[in-house]
Amino acid sequence: MGRDVTERHRAAEALVEAERHLAHASRLALLGELTASIAHEINQPLGAILSNAEAAEMLMDSGELGELRQILADIRRDDLRASEVILNVRSLVGKRTPHFVELRLNDMVDMALRLAAAEARRRGVLLEAHPEPGLPPIQGEPVQLKQLLLNLIINGMDAMAGTPPAQRRIVVRTGRGPGRVEVSVADAGHGIAPEKLPHIFESFFTTKEHGMGLGLAMVRSIAEAHRGTMTAENQPGGGATFRLRLPVEERHHP
Ligand code: ADP
Repeated sequence: MGRDVTERHRAAEALVEAERHLAHASRLALLGELTASIAHEINQPLGAILSNAEAAEMLMDSGELGELRQILADIRRDDLRASEVILNVRSLVGKRTPHFVELRLNDMVDMALRLAAAEARRRGVLLEAHPEPGLPPIQGEPVQLKQLLLNLIINGMDAMAGTPPAQRRIVVRTGRGPGRVEVSVADAGHGIAPEKLPHIFESFFTTKEHGMGLGLAMVRSIAEAHRGTMTAENQPGGGATFRLRLPVEERHHP
């Protein structure tokens, strides 16, 4: 593989990583004012931990407690990291002003799939697009719609962790109905247990060991901000399908 290709590959991965951080951050931004007050509350004890760790380090300069020193150094590092996270959350909560423009759903699908490509390769997942040509344009926020799609695609990949490699496939389709356009994301994963189906869009609902349970809550809130709807269903042959329907303005020609 040529150097140029390797670099482009790396750049693409960095882009996916950045977008994932963005998606992650806007999950946190969902919490809005609550997050801001959490940030305020948590910063004080974090500051206290930091000065205690520094004081202990100074005291130990006279002793031979090397390991303890390492532990304190770790505490300090983690403390600073946590503070940075909070700072980031704060700036994101303050800055989000959605900007609606005229756009095409197929373009959003195209961009989301491009962002997901490196991650899909890493997980051995085939990404397939079936865009319906000639769809009417919609009003939307491109960053939010890309995040919505990326979230659905990454959830689909998560659900296929136990799927045989040859069947790991995500199919994204666009289409239209009366007064609306729609996009669906289908995977070949473990599907959704019927008793869980009514809860998956709720905040903090997760079945994953390290899940936050905010991805689909964000997906739904973006759909609603666009006057759209989100649905989820299991496919008869296995796997789940998520569908976003968005209204289009009917153009009446007199
Ligand atoms: P998280 O990914 O942190 O768990 P989400 O809100 O994105 O949070 O998803 C909530 C839950 O919905 C997941 O834990 C999982 O149980 C279920 N889920 C989401 N997407 C899928 C999917 N494609 N297939 C099966 N289950 C899914």
